[in-house]
Amino acid sequence: MSIYIYIYIYIYICIVYTCDQCRYTGKSENEMNIDDEETRSKYPFVSILSMSGGDGDNSYSSNSLLQRRVLSMTKAILVKNTKEMMTNLGFPKCIKLADLGCSSGQNTFLVISEIVNTINLLCQEWNQNPPEIDCCLNDLPGNDFNTTFTFITFFNDKLTSKIPCFVSGVPGSFYSRLFPRKSLHFIHSNYSIHYLSKVPDGLEKKRVYITSSSPLSEYKAYLNQFQRDFTTFLRMRSEEMVSNGRMVLTLIGRNTLEDPLYRDCCHWLTLLSNSLCDLVFEGLVSASKVNSFNMPFYDPNKEEVKEIVENEGSFKINDLETHVFDLGHSNEDFSFQSHRAQAGKKEASCIRAVTETLLVAHFGDAINIDTLFEKYAHHVSQHASCKNKTSVSLVISLIRN
Ligand code: SAH
Repeated sequence: MSIYIYIYIYIYICIVYTCDQCRYTGKSENEMNIDDEETRSKYPFVSILSMSGGDGDNSYSSNSLLQRRVLSMTKAILVKNTKEMMTNLGFPKCIKLADLGCSSGQNTFLVISEIVNTINLLCQEWNQNPPEIDCCLNDLPGNDFNTTFTFITFFNDKLTSKIPCFVSGVPGSFYSRLFPRKSLHFIHSNYSIHYLSKVPDGLEKKRVYITSSSPLSEYKAYLNQFQRDFTTFLRMRSEEMVSNGRMVLTLIGRNTLEDPLYRDCCHWLTLLSNSLCDLVFEGLVSASKVNSFNMPFYDPNKEEVKEIVENEGSFKINDLETHVFDLGHSNEDFSFQSHRAQAGKKEASCIRAVTETLLVAHFGDAINIDTLFEKYAHHVSQHASCKNKTSVSLVISLIRN
């Protein structure tokens, strides 16, 4: 037999073996290699992007006040779109709604109860029977759904009527299909779709995320990944939604149209980067380990979002707003060191709750998370009286064509 036939047989066996392994575990080839470090950092959504579970001091459930503030800010758009959806669809007998990236804790129920109560009130006004409502809560499989479901009585208490609601959990990535075709009437997502499906390829950087001193190529790599991911997100949802269904999405964004690299000095990822650099400086972790940690995150501006929606083509933009708010420290007196320290601790706990799983997956035992967030709290306290310490949210509502 010639050498080519041997090579052919070898390749054939390798392919069959790989496919069998995938079939056996029901996983894709990428997910198969999840223990491999490089694959892990490229496909964090499989499990490690989830927020900290439980209801302890460091959990997402106990540290998600900021996200709750954002929810109250976007309430008017949520209510308006819920009403328009009901009237335009002619008061369907059953409504299926989904909260994508629901996380663990009570926030998702604040949203769902707002939608259900709005539908109920509208039905009373229009003399219609209220529909049955299917409420689907989605997040990544690693999410602590159990903690979320313990808030079911909180949800029932928030409802202003006995409208029939059926709550269920839907584990999976929103960058894939999650629901049957043409089944959803309303989709909501708060502070989730700024998370990318993976860290962009080809970064030559030494920081966790874009900073003012990053090369322009870095911005382009992040933007490119966001364009791909958000397009996929829209495509998946366009298949799942009924015609004239609505979607209300809120995400972290930027309000700068000129310099795409501009991030203020106290941007949360700049401070996280600085805190990791402190650990390197003190010899507590290697520089190479820190240099290879990147955040699968992007904060687009209005124009970037608008262009992606228009290019994808399945949705019409109904609202697109930029909300800027200060991070809540500006009313405090920072002439006292104790006030600064308190502000630092508060913000460090919030950031820890949303990054700890990812940090532990990348660094393992190589860093002490308590020490890292003590550094983070210190950096926040140094910036406590910064006048430009703001957070920008983009709110967009879409109508399925
Ligand atoms: N909506 C909640 C949670 C925001 S935290 C609130 O307002 O409080 C962001 C959530 O998005 C996390 O729970 C994270 O696990 C989830 N998430 C990130 N990427 C995701 C993806 N690709 N698919 C589904 N959920 C995702």
